[in-house]
Amino acid sequence: MEYLEDDFLMISGIQHFLFCKRQWALIHVEQKWEENFLTYEGQRLHKKADNPYIKEKRGRSFLVRAMPVHSRIYGLTGKCDVVEFIESKTGINVIGHDGKYTLRPIEYKHGHKKYDLSDSLQLLGEALCIEEMMQCEITQGYIYYNETKHKETIAFDDKLRSILKKTIEEMHMYWYKKYTPKVKTGRWCNSCSLKDVCLPELLNRQTVASYLDRRLNE
Ligand code: SF4
Repeated sequence: MEYLEDDFLMISGIQHFLFCKRQWALIHVEQKWEENFLTYEGQRLHKKADNPYIKEKRGRSFLVRAMPVHSRIYGLTGKCDVVEFIESKTGINVIGHDGKYTLRPIEYKHGHKKYDLSDSLQLLGEALCIEEMMQCEITQGYIYYNETKHKETIAFDDKLRSILKKTIEEMHMYWYKKYTPKVKTGRWCNSCSLKDVCLPELLNRQTVASYLDRRLNE
């Protein structure tokens, strides 16, 4: 099965979905968006990475910035901050360039190095798209942490691929149903950009039906 373009989901939404499924649905299904410091900082950083006028050639490799990608198999679309093309005998041919190349996506993150599954899954989402578009295999990518200037290698192993495929399936299920789930709230809601739209304090309130149901079954 292949997805139609109208049903492509944003790769960047994978992070929203893992942070909070309700937040993802508010942004991507209901198209609501609020700015806070964290989202602003992320955008500011990406502006730099997405600047098409910054060109770089490093020895036997070259970088492509803000590369648009999509996958019909997984129904994903987005833009890679940077894709590194590294000259390699086992790589693929690239139009306009001599030799063969292996490809590595690079994502820029604000803050410092910390393991975050959602960062790795977003990067892998980009890799799945590139694999499909370029007919190649990508075994790893990098996350670059702006604060510490540290580059972390992320291996795209079977376990990570399996987690991502299940996550994407679930996202498509909510998208198909146009459903915004109710979720458990917590301290993390304080840093949520959609707190004032979501109103998490109301999520914990019982409906009359659930109150009666609970009392009658006591
Ligand atoms: S406020 Fe909390 S429950 Fe609501 S969308 Fe944000 S993180 Fe999710």
